[in-house]
Amino acid sequence: MSPFLRKIIVKASLATVLSIAASLGLAVTIVPLLGGVVDGNAWLMCVLCPLLIAWPVSAWQFSQAERLRETRNEIARLHRELERAHGELSAAHAALVEKARHDGMTGMLNRESFLAAVRQAMAGEGRGTLLLIDADHFKRINDRFGHPAGDDALRAVAQAIAGAIRPEDLCGRLGGEEFAVYLDRLAVAEAGPIAGRILDVVRRLRIETASGSSIALTVSIGAAGHAGGVTLNELVAEADEKLYKAKMLGRNRAILTLDGIEAA
Ligand code: GH3
Ligand code: MG
Ligand code: MG
Repeated sequence: MSPFLRKIIVKASLATVLSIAASLGLAVTIVPLLGGVVDGNAWLMCVLCPLLIAWPVSAWQFSQAERLRETRNEIARLHRELERAHGELSAAHAALVEKARHDGMTGMLNRESFLAAVRQAMAGEGRGTLLLIDADHFKRINDRFGHPAGDDALRAVAQAIAGAIRPEDLCGRLGGEEFAVYLDRLAVAEAGPIAGRILDVVRRLRIETASGSSIALTVSIGAAGHAGGVTLNELVAEADEKLYKAKMLGRNRAILTLDGIEAA
């Protein structure tokens, strides 16, 4: 016999016993008051009626209640499972959104999210300086050491740049061998030491290739500062102009202002 059936039979039998006791109690108190006599037939009816009515009715009622309780438990379990799945889905979605903001190769912010973050930083009060950083003669590195070694070099450059800036600064990969840094609340005249540090850490890099060669490389940097009142496009255009100038002057340098202030 299933536990469910046993439970129902026990409960219905208990209810029936109580019902018989109540019928007998009522019969022996009320019937004499009404002038009647509790005889054998009355006793039989007091036992038979509850047996024939109370037992099936309470068995049906208990089984319905038990089914309802089981269904409620099942719904609660499904609800908990749904909540857990929802939590996992939210976490996966957040991880995906975070991943989409970053460049897959270097882990830096990608172009869109970097520019969006700079735009947000520029919207606040105060100043800031944008550095555009381009690897020098990178095509030659690919040609000489192969594209996979070039990828390793770009990853090393990204890591070197990230290590040379302050925690509050933003850095991103704009595409190809071009990176950018936004120095929050720093005027262009104060950006020299950080630009110099970036040039220096990249110069010191040595990337070992699978064939046993060692890649050395440099970057050129163009800077543009603002103290409000300029658009991001204007800032990028100005930094780009100075990056071009750094390339023209022989690369491996940073041009901070158009009148030639330079970090080396
Ligand atoms: P310059 O000093 O004038 O910037 O010279 P450059 O050779 O760096 O510039 P150019 O624009 O001529 O070439 C950029 C090179 O960067 C060519 C391209 O194959 C390489 N490059 C861009 N993105 C990647 C990348 O993700 N991985 C690798 N390995 N190379 C890349
Ligand atoms: Mg380049
Ligand atoms: Mg380039």
